[in-house]
Amino acid sequence: MRITVDQDLCCGAGQCVLIAPDVFDQRDEDGIVELLDPAPGPELKDDVHEAAAVCPTAAITVDDG
Ligand code: SF4
Repeated sequence: MRITVDQDLCCGAGQCVLIAPDVFDQRDEDGIVELLDPAPGPELKDDVHEAAAVCPTAAITVDDG
């Protein structure tokens, strides 16, 4: 599983951080998403997919390959 985030799309809503705090964080200065782990283990798959689904700007892309 590989994850990418588009910081230009992110509006800093923070939903992803609430759902998967081991994978996503927010910049202190403006709340824009930061990717902590671009290749998390399978145990985080459900959380990462949920984070991508709830992101209001579709800034998170998940590749399960
Ligand atoms: S849920 Fe989406 S918009 Fe909100 S902080 Fe995460 S990537 Fe950014």
